[in-house]
This record gives sequence, C-alpha cells and structure tokens, in this order.
Amino acid sequence: MENDCLFCRIAGGQTDTTFIYEDDNLVVFKDINPHAPVHWLVVPKKHIRSINDLTESDQDLVALMIDTARRMAEKAGIARPGYKLLFNVESGGGQVIFHLHLHLLGGWERK
Ligand code: AMP
Ligand code: ZN
Repeated sequence: MENDCLFCRIAGGQTDTTFIYEDDNLVVFKDINPHAPVHWLVVPKKHIRSINDLTESDQDLVALMIDTARRMAEKAGIARPGYKLLFNVESGGGQVIFHLHLHLLGGWERK
C-alpha cells in the first residue's frame, strides 16, 4: 500500500468507489472516464507500478487478472460479441496511473 497512490487507496477501500467485484487479491470497478460502453478496470490490491515491474512471483496474479477480466466480460454480457483487454505501460504507452491495472473495454455491439 502506497498512500500517495490512488489505486492503492481505491483497492484498499479508502474511497467511495463501488466495486463490481472484489476478492483477496484484486478489485474491479468502472473507469471514471469511460472510452467504451463497458470500461472496467481490474486492479490488484498489491502495488506494482507497471507491467515492467512484474517478477516471476507475480505470474499467478497476472493470470488471475486476465481470468477475472474474462469472467467480468461474461458478467457484463460482452463475452460473445467480444472485447478488448489493454495494459498501458509507462507514459509512452499511455499509462497515467502508475499502479498496475487491466482495462476491459467493450459493449459496442451489445443490445
Ligand atoms: P491508464 O491510462 O492505463 O493509466 O488508465 C488509468 C485509468 O484510470 C483512466 O482510464 C482513468 O479514467 C481511470 N481513473 C482515474 N481515476 C479514477 C477513479 N477515481 N476511478 C475510476 N477510474 C479512474
Ligand atoms: Zn498503488
């Protein structure tokens, strides 16, 4: 937990952000500035700056993030038409919050 990190505070339950899903390792919530009809963020509770900072010991956590995104796509009703999963990596890759997160984007074809 880093106190100056927004996503640490959100994942730690220190804000009024509503979780779509939560377990011991991660939380899922709506992006505040959505770029798609469904734009959710899968965020680990552990502070990791970016994909560049992953170590071997984080492999299970990353697999869990992707599997959670898959389940959240089903929950949102966008699994069948399809969706995007996106990691922005460092400022050159468009990352602005330096706490690892996976974007789930979709819903364009959802009726
Ligand atoms: P990135 O560019 O990959 O770092 O994405 C950060 C995302 O976090 C952006 O899409 C923001 O809209 C989103 N965001 C920033 N603050 C909040 C917040 N308080 N609650 C939900 N999403 C947020
Ligand atoms: Zn953090």
